[in-house]
Amino acid sequence: MVATTLTRQGEEREEKRRNCIHFWVINGAGSRTSEGTCKYCGERRHFSNIISDCARTSPDEYELWLSRQK
Ligand SMILES: [Zn+2]
Repeated sequence: MVATTLTRQGEEREEKRRNCIHFWVINGAGSRTSEGTCKYCGERRHFSNIISDCARTSPDEYELWLSRQK
């Protein structure tokens, strides 16, 4: 049942990302945006350099994470 196995792995990965407290590692600089990769789940996201200079995650993302903890 290869298809079933693949689906299950995909769901586990999604679950991990949903529960992940992302730790963004920012790659590169010099342009308007930098690509960040989560150290834990591997998710990628683009950040403005303004944000990446002072925080690993955006304020909106942090608020969203806080709201999920209750
Ligand atoms: Zn993550």
